[in-house]
Amino acid sequence: MLPGGLVSLKLTVIGTGYLGATHAASMAELGFDVLGVDVDKEKIDALGRGELPIHEPGLPELLRKHTESGRLRFTTSFEEAGAFGDVHFIAVGTPQRAGEHAADMTYVDASVTAIARAATKDSLIVGKSTVPVGSARRLKALAAQEAREGVTIDFAWNPEFLREGYAVEDTLRPDRLVIGSDSATAEPVLREVYAQAISMNTPFISTDFETAELVKVAANAFLATKISFINAFSEVTETVGGDIRTLADAIGLDSRIGRRFLNAGIGFGGGCLPKDIRALQARVSELGLDSTMRFLNEVDEVNLRRRDRTVYVAETLLGNLEGKRVAVLGVAFKPNSDDVRDSPALDVAARLFNSGADVSVYDPAANSNAAKRYPRLNYVDALTDAVNEADLVMMLTEWSEFVRIDPAELAELVAHKVMFDGRNVLDHRTWKDAGWDIVSLGHKSEL
Ligand code: NAD
Repeated sequence: MLPGGLVSLKLTVIGTGYLGATHAASMAELGFDVLGVDVDKEKIDALGRGELPIHEPGLPELLRKHTESGRLRFTTSFEEAGAFGDVHFIAVGTPQRAGEHAADMTYVDASVTAIARAATKDSLIVGKSTVPVGSARRLKALAAQEAREGVTIDFAWNPEFLREGYAVEDTLRPDRLVIGSDSATAEPVLREVYAQAISMNTPFISTDFETAELVKVAANAFLATKISFINAFSEVTETVGGDIRTLADAIGLDSRIGRRFLNAGIGFGGGCLPKDIRALQARVSELGLDSTMRFLNEVDEVNLRRRDRTVYVAETLLGNLEGKRVAVLGVAFKPNSDDVRDSPALDVAARLFNSGADVSVYDPAANSNAAKRYPRLNYVDALTDAVNEADLVMMLTEWSEFVRIDPAELAELVAHKVMFDGRNVLDHRTWKDAGWDIVSLGHKSEL
């Protein structure tokens, strides 16, 4: 039994990146006392001052509100966390291992070990990071082994489904809660933590560790497959003719299929889908199921081929990239985020630069993260600066600012009125009427 009763639960969130910072601030918003823990001192100092080091709509306000109220604090000390928390959420990264497909579990193992050693009271560790199936059972044993004499550590897995750009909304009003555990004690504690969402009839799925871990990677594998499915059809329509948007609209009207995630374009990226489908393949191979998830290899390949195709289209449009001015609008992997991890847009921008193009980049939030990865691109602070005298404008991340561009106004600034719509979101008729050549993936006639 946890001390103090369920209502006064104190929470820690270990790992304060995109997931952890959002979770910590959202839990404070729900009324809990929360301590965010990270090994990155600079990040912890910034968060402690109420400054958010990432771009996430709605999160700066929550962070400021609760650092000021004192309900949300940050530390690098596991000792402090171990003395404070009744529930410890693990939200550290699980990136792709260098040179391999498998997930790097170093950070999860280190954080579970550290908090289990530091806990001075009975507590519950709740994994939220995305991990290979089988990890929770192993980590539970690890925590029990590392716990202090007389301290009991319970364990649960609670995968996270938030979308960057909507992270606060998704955390406060999730579309489902999934809890994996093998004890009778973990679930009531988590029902208390998530009481507000449960009171709004959020489905609460209580299951075993393996199912909980697999729900997350299955969801991501499905979404990635859906995107690559329509992008594979793009390859067909680019060859034979046809309109990929109409195709997606038409099949999307079938309620068994649905229109979402059927947007043909330069493909998926980010810190989740690409590495999660690779880690899943690696894990099932490890389990001896070599061919089971082989289709995900194709999903990955189709996705990466979209980047090749985009570079090819740019070369075709410009004849030769050498010295040509290319304006890249958007380098975040998706709009409303500053995340450039495995961003197809940034990858394309860098490849055009490496082929001799003079690339100007404008992203409303991701310029500085992109500059850390590819410092040699020319980053500018305004859309108008990026497109100035451009031979080709490439809209690669569909920020609403770009979707709303007035083609007539833009025409005044560029050297040549050629637009590449990398996300198939612009109204081609309007652009053509304004005198532009507009090209997107999935269309033969326009190339
Ligand atoms: P991130 O890189 O933004 O944050 C990870 C944080 O963990 C960093 O701040 C890092 O300093 C910290 N950290 C590393 N080792 C630590 C340790 N031993 N102790 C304490 N802190 C440590 O990553 P993220 O995007 O927040 O992802 C975290 C996990 O959540 C991953 O498993 C990811 O797959 C999963 N996830 C992410 C999202 C998303 O949209 N970003 C959504 C769902 C699930």
